[in-house]
Amino acid sequence: MTRHSDPPATATPAPRLTPVTGTLHALQVPIPYPMGYVTVLIDTASPVTLIDTALDTPEARQAIEDGLHSLGLHWESIERVIVTHHHPDHYGLAGLIEERSGATVHMLDVDIARGEQYWHRWEEWLPGHSRHFLDHGVPEASMADHDQEARRSRARVRPATRVTPLHAGDTVRLAGLDWEVLWLPGHADGHLGLWQAGERLLIAADAILPRISPNVGLYAYSRPDPLGDYLSTLARIEALDPARAVVGHYGPVMDGVAERARELLAHHAERLDLLRASLAATPMHAYDLSFVMFPRDLSVSSRRFAVAETLAHAEYLRLHGEVGRRWDGRSWVYFR
Ligand SMILES: [Zn+2]
Repeated sequence: MTRHSDPPATATPAPRLTPVTGTLHALQVPIPYPMGYVTVLIDTASPVTLIDTALDTPEARQAIEDGLHSLGLHWESIERVIVTHHHPDHYGLAGLIEERSGATVHMLDVDIARGEQYWHRWEEWLPGHSRHFLDHGVPEASMADHDQEARRSRARVRPATRVTPLHAGDTVRLAGLDWEVLWLPGHADGHLGLWQAGERLLIAADAILPRISPNVGLYAYSRPDPLGDYLSTLARIEALDPARAVVGHYGPVMDGVAERARELLAHHAERLDLLRASLAATPMHAYDLSFVMFPRDLSVSSRRFAVAETLAHAEYLRLHGEVGRRWDGRSWVYFR
């Protein structure tokens, strides 16, 4: 017996559904990002729950609708939504689902206080975001599209009107099992994970990914040391030693999780060494340093992600007393 019924024979392609455990299924939902898909989890047991929601695009709405339908559900069936973090590809449809189904929307307390605020206050925060990049050497010309891009991204997010906090250590019932709420900061300040100890199964979203290293960046409103946060998260995941993890992209399920955590720890250690060596040779601001860290040709917006990631590494070294920074009248210059 299969865990879910076969999809109906229609013209639409079959939803990409993977059984995870019991009544919990992973749906691959298309997103217009290089990763191609984001994982949305559906638990058909009561309360019917979605974990993450994808971006608000017609394709994503359709994919979720088809996924729900093939499990005998509809938008109205959803009773609870848990969002792992506020990034648009995970949070985008939360408000629409809340509106259509009356579902309660849950996030980690840290994310409600920080990242989730962005979707309500983005216009007020925008000048601060631009200032942050300019202060770290990004040329004015490379910021020309920044506000427009923020607006485009905002248009694909329907924030929930009310978000109920979860706290690290809480227990969440899912697929008839108890899951511990984890705080896994780094990729986002308030990134949430769910841990099922008996099955050693981690719902990790973007806290750990196969194939790509999750972006860990210092932004205008980030916690001060996102890389330090992320290295602790990786150590935590390594210590948990999950049998499997459900991941946000390139999944839905991966094994070899502790090994991947060690790889990512080594990757960031290498990055820190590269930065130490570069700054010992030449003082630089984060924008120029980002070309040392990410030498390949990047779009203007990807370069900003690269700057934020470079900055997370530079600030990590600064907060650990290994490098300094001085204001040159226009931007911060890091030196060793
Ligand atoms: Zn993501």
